[in-house]
Amino acid sequence: MKPAYMRISPVNINGKPAHRLMIVLRTRGCEYARKNNGGCTVCGFLNHARPDITGQEIVDQLDTILETTGLNGVEEIDLLTLGSFLNDNEVSGETRQALLGRIGRLEGILRVSVESRAEYVTVEKLVENHRLLGDKIMEFGIGLESSDDYIRNKIIKKGLSKRSFERVIKMVKEAGCHLLTYLLIKPPHISEQEAVEDAVNSAKYVFDTAARYGVTARVAFEPVFICENTALEDLFLNSKYRLVNLWSVVDTIKQVHGCGDIFLGLSDENLSLDRMPSSCPVCSQTIIREIERYNHTHDISPLEKLDCECKKQYESQRERRLI
Ligand code: SF4
Ligand SMILES: [Zn+2]
Repeated sequence: MKPAYMRISPVNINGKPAHRLMIVLRTRGCEYARKNNGGCTVCGFLNHARPDITGQEIVDQLDTILETTGLNGVEEIDLLTLGSFLNDNEVSGETRQALLGRIGRLEGILRVSVESRAEYVTVEKLVENHRLLGDKIMEFGIGLESSDDYIRNKIIKKGLSKRSFERVIKMVKEAGCHLLTYLLIKPPHISEQEAVEDAVNSAKYVFDTAARYGVTARVAFEPVFICENTALEDLFLNSKYRLVNLWSVVDTIKQVHGCGDIFLGLSDENLSLDRMPSSCPVCSQTIIREIERYNHTHDISPLEKLDCECKKQYESQRERRLI
């Protein structure tokens, strides 16, 4: 069985350009989504889930990737699932052990990320995962999506309080792990201007809070794309949602650059049917290339120099809240 998604892309580890292998393992699927009417309004992971999958079939997916993919130059592995890595009902303890044990034995990998909803996190699980990875950095990822309670829980339906998020940060600290927080850029029902403000404020909240707990933190921004069979797709098809303009993504990076380590997720995990953020046909690919370059080097100057005919119109529409 093939994983739901995999991709090698540039990343920066502790100030040094590197590459990451991102894997989305096919699993039973997010329990929160199954029990809550599809779960988060923007997420399409359930489309890829296999409710009858076995632990062995999950491990086999990783084995196949490790056997067939050249890991030369790869220094980070993001081991994602279609839900929560730490939920025993989605990925058993035994399966987690087999997966991380394999990755722990790989040479040249400096950092490994896994992701889970807050309710499945315990210090014991984090410590055990960390132990299996040996001296590699164990980064724990959590989707906060926004620091605004209304946006996170009413619009996105995340079902996550800031209190739970901060409890997780405390556990991450106790287990000696690093923190990776996923934030969305432009969830539904907010304007382009509000989207930038929300992303910037959310990143600052994450870095401030992590610093308060003494945890090394990274923010991964995810510009929203349209997944099939989601509440967001309904809005999009009824012209009630407009994809974020890439100039807003660039503006967000410029405003957050310097506050902490950030990464821009530009992959759609094969879920969007090409309904992805763009700007205009002339500059979209250039902006995407420059954002990837930023992910690699953390050098902001090429993004500051970017320009295109479409930018003025975007700025004027954004200012007048027409987008
Ligand atoms: S975003 Fe995460 S928690 Fe929400 S439905 Fe998707 S997999 Fe589940
Ligand atoms: Zn343009």
